[in-house]
Amino acid sequence: MHILVTGGAGYIGSHAALRLLRDGHRVVIVDNLYRGHAGAVNAIARAAGRNASNLNFHRLDLLDTQALEHMMRAHAVHAVMHFAALTYVGESVNRPLDYWRANTAGALSLLTAADAAGVTRLIFSSTAATYGEPGPQDVPIREDLVQRPINPYGASKLAFERILTEHTHACKASGKDFACAFLRYFNVCGSDRSGALGEHHDPETHLIPIVLHCLLGRRPQSSNTLSIFGHDYPTPDGTAVRDYVNVEDLVDAHVHTLAALKAGDVRSYNIGTGTGLSVRQIVDAAERVTGLKLKTADAPRRAGDPATLYADPGKIAREIGWKAATREVEPMIEHAWAWMKANPRGYAN
Ligand code: UDP
Repeated sequence: MHILVTGGAGYIGSHAALRLLRDGHRVVIVDNLYRGHAGAVNAIARAAGRNASNLNFHRLDLLDTQALEHMMRAHAVHAVMHFAALTYVGESVNRPLDYWRANTAGALSLLTAADAAGVTRLIFSSTAATYGEPGPQDVPIREDLVQRPINPYGASKLAFERILTEHTHACKASGKDFACAFLRYFNVCGSDRSGALGEHHDPETHLIPIVLHCLLGRRPQSSNTLSIFGHDYPTPDGTAVRDYVNVEDLVDAHVHTLAALKAGDVRSYNIGTGTGLSVRQIVDAAERVTGLKLKTADAPRRAGDPATLYADPGKIAREIGWKAATREVEPMIEHAWAWMKANPRGYAN
């Protein structure tokens, strides 16, 4: 199959592109390199070995509908995995227009091009942030929970879920072969176990990479001390609980979902492990994996951070048989740690 991976120079998209190449697919990556890395595309090509000839890269912006359509026709793209997005909650509050433009208008442009070029399947990276701030009775979170995002990031992703749903219904009504799925990610972490790819965000805001950067002495402004945002949550140790899912397992969910989609389907699945871990438990696990001691400091809660968020991943397990293979967080931390040590400047090496 020929698969378009948008955001393939980013963290999750690069892992998806490599997996698809290893599975024998042809892959075309589209990325504007605003936050993606040309180095990630090179790393994918190196790791893909002889399958690297099945990889193409186009530096394009999603808002360039015509160029996207032209490119999809030229490559006879069958399916799109759409990862490209802006993903910082705090930034989305300060720069909402950028988030609506990139995440909603950009996705709409992509879908318009895909429709014109005859693409039949689209898998969309959605997010648990579309659920907003669920109450304690709503956790573990099921897909039928009412989605009430509390920031422009979640809202801009939810809007595209709606667009995709309406488009797919219209295709079905007119007999056009099209199907889509939205995968609502929980906390994605880890990196490819072969060591080829890793997580490189600038700025970095996610817990596990920050913990590892502190342990590597790479956050001098904070004296390499982890600020724990909130220590008085109603959780067993007072710190916030999240569902940490391995990036390779997440990519596997995309592959299974794509294979399962039938014309007219609109599927939504939570992608998580179903287990919640606290910030403290992540710190303890990182200390066990690295054998190092982390300095921590209690800090105020981060605005909009709920106490406890974890998935009920039962729907995707029942419908297509996917479950996160990695049940413990230690291997995810181990792979991330190995890549960071080997690539001290990430893809800027
Ligand atoms: N967190 C923290 N210190 C940090 C970064 C994150 O205590 O420097 C906490 C954050 O408040 C949340 C959890 O770690 O409870 C996971 O945060 P992350 O940004 O990785 O993902 P989110 O759940 O916000 O999408």
